[in-house]
Amino acid sequence: MIIVLKPGIARKQETSILREIRKLGYKPHVMHGVARTVIGAIGDELTHQSLETLAGVFPEIVESVIPVQKRYKLVSREAHPEASTIQVREHVIGGKKFHVMAGPCSVEGEKQLLQTAEAVKAAGATILRGGAFKPRTSPYEFQGLGEKGLKLLAKARRETGLAVITELLSEQHAELVAEYTDIIQIGARNSQNYQLLIAAAKTGKPILLKRGLSMKIEEWLLAGEYVLANENANLMFCERGIRTFETYTRNTLDLSTIPIIKQESHCPIVIDPSQGAGRADLVKAMCKGAVAMGADALLIEVHPNPAEAWSDGAQQVTPEIFAELMRELRPLIAAAGRE
Ligand code: PEP
Ligand code: MN
Repeated sequence: MIIVLKPGIARKQETSILREIRKLGYKPHVMHGVARTVIGAIGDELTHQSLETLAGVFPEIVESVIPVQKRYKLVSREAHPEASTIQVREHVIGGKKFHVMAGPCSVEGEKQLLQTAEAVKAAGATILRGGAFKPRTSPYEFQGLGEKGLKLLAKARRETGLAVITELLSEQHAELVAEYTDIIQIGARNSQNYQLLIAAAKTGKPILLKRGLSMKIEEWLLAGEYVLANENANLMFCERGIRTFETYTRNTLDLSTIPIIKQESHCPIVIDPSQGAGRADLVKAMCKGAVAMGADALLIEVHPNPAEAWSDGAQQVTPEIFAELMRELRPLIAAAGRE
């Protein structure tokens, strides 16, 4: 923390602030500047009371208290004032071009996947999504096709030229999933599985990190720090809704994360309106909001026959609705200064 003292503070007042800082468990380093005095306070903020209250407690002495070192150091804007861009094959995420990742919740079979891939590509998506390893709430529900699903994604990529994103569920599959995908998705249920984050980071593939079901933004940023701290700078955050008291929606999509992540971090922010509300009828509106608020990309579930989907049927849109959505998004993307 940096404690900035008001100009013209007497030595006696300075001494009393130094005493206070030591009392709170921090080691003060005094820097006497030309115009004013600044004190750097080093200490563990987890085990000591925050110094941020000093300005309120000593308004006649302390001008401001500025945290200098975010706990998420590499992820923070302080560390990297320019927005980062992420190269995914020939695409750049976080730059001028707005990207849409779309496809089924789960890869169910060749026909379903290829049909969806072709439709989303024709509508303007650049990246195909599809789960091969599925994190299902019940062990009796469809768990994904596993490696067979990965092979189908690779086939869809060959046939359409779309890049691919798929979820990594377990450390033991990190190399396998990395072999087939262009982006590794870390799901909401695993976003604080730090060993998995490290294994994913070490593959070198771009990582899309979903926000956990009840994850604070700071915890999310710190989870992202695990990726950057493990030599992988290609991180995107993905807001997919959080658990609240509301029952009209499956989750509450927190669009405030778009400006917050932009302020706090240099990493791109992606919005998933599908898990975000769990309702196909809300997808269009939430996508529009996300684009207008400055999101870098969308992750949307599209299924040729949502009523018969093997997972998340209620929230998947048809290829027809998806094409309509892409048309309706165009003027908003332009208004947001993107292409
Ligand atoms: C998904 O993308 O299908 C999924 C399971 O996402 P989440 O981890 O956000 O629930
Ligand atoms: Mn899903």
